[in-house]
Amino acid sequence: MLTGMHVAIIGGDARQLEVIRKLMELDTKLSLVGFDQLDHGFAGVTKMKIHEVDFHDVDAIILPVHGTNMDGEIQTVFSNEKMTFTEELLRQTPTHCTVYSGITNDYLDHVVKAVGRKHVQLFERDDVAIYNSIPTAEGTVMMVIQHTDVTIHGSRIAVLGLGRVGMTVARTFAALGARVKVGARRSEHLARIAEMSLEPFHLNDLEQHVKDIDVCINTIPHMVVTASVIAKMPAHTLIIDLASKPGGTDFRYAEKRGIQALLAPGLPGIVAPKTAGQIVANVLAQLLSADLKKRKENKK
Ligand code: NAP
Repeated sequence: MLTGMHVAIIGGDARQLEVIRKLMELDTKLSLVGFDQLDHGFAGVTKMKIHEVDFHDVDAIILPVHGTNMDGEIQTVFSNEKMTFTEELLRQTPTHCTVYSGITNDYLDHVVKAVGRKHVQLFERDDVAIYNSIPTAEGTVMMVIQHTDVTIHGSRIAVLGLGRVGMTVARTFAALGARVKVGARRSEHLARIAEMSLEPFHLNDLEQHVKDIDVCINTIPHMVVTASVIAKMPAHTLIIDLASKPGGTDFRYAEKRGIQALLAPGLPGIVAPKTAGQIVANVLAQLLSADLKKRKENKK
C-alpha cells in the first residue's frame, strides 16, 4: 500500500487513467492536474489547477509518457489548461521527490538536474520495453493487414533489429505463418535468430536480403533502410518503420520510388491504451512502494 504518499499526476492521455486507478487502489493521496474534463468518478481524488498544488509535500510527480515538450509544456487530453513544468515548481518539492516520465528531452533533463531531483524514465527500463513490445507487435500486425492485399501467412517479411521490439515482432509474424528473416549485426543476435528457427542475416548484407520480400519492418533507430536498400526491394514492398522518430528509413526516396513506407510511432497507446496504461501503472506502483519503504527505513 502507498498510504501516506502524496503523488501529483500532471497531464497525459488515456494511459494515465490506469495509473490513477492503480494508485487509488493502493491508497495514495493523489493530486490530479490537467484532468478537469475527465468524467470518470474517481472518488476521493482531488482535481486541481497546477498553481493550487501544494508541492511542498509531494513525494512523486508523474508526467505524461512524453514528459514535456521542449518549452516545458505538459500535454493533456483532459483539459485546456496550459501547464508548464519549471524549475520554480520543482524547487518547491522535498528533496526526495522523484519525477517519473516515459521518455525525456533536453528541457526536462535540464530542469531535474538544475534542481537536483531524481528522474526515472520508465521506457528505458527493460521490463517496460518488453511488455510494451507486445501491443507494438499487435499494432504492427494491424498495419500490415491494413496496407497489404495478401495474408500475413506465407508473406516474406524482413525484420531489422533483434532488440526488445524486433524479437517480439519477429516471433509474432512467424507465429502467424509468415516467412520471417531477421537482420542484425551482433553474432549472438544472429545465433538467437537461428535458434528461433528464423532466417538470420547480417545487416551488412541487407541489400541482398530485401530482393524477395513483401514487408520490411524496421526497429533500428538509425538510417538503415537507405535509398540503395529501397532500390533493391520489389515494387510492392511495404515498409513499416517502428523506430522512434525520425525512423530509420529514407522516406523521401521510398516515395520517389513509389514504395509505401509508413512511420508508425506510439502503437501501444493507439491500439491498446488500457494495456499500455496498465504496464506503466504496475511498474510505477512497484517503484513508488520501493521508494516509500526506503524512506521509512531511513527514518528509523
Ligand atoms: P532496443 O532493444 O535497444 O533494440 C534496438 C535494436 O537496434 C538492437 O537490435 C540494436 O542492435 C539495433 N541497433 C541500434 N543501433 C544500430 C545501428 N547503428 N546499426 C545496426 N543496428 C542497430 O530497442 P527496442 O526497445 O527494441 O526499440 C526499438 C525502437 O522502437 C526504438 O526506437 C523505440 O523507441 C521504438 N519503439 C517504437 C514503438 C512504436 O510503437 N512504434 C514502440 C516501442 C518502441 P545492437 O544490439 O547491435 O546495438
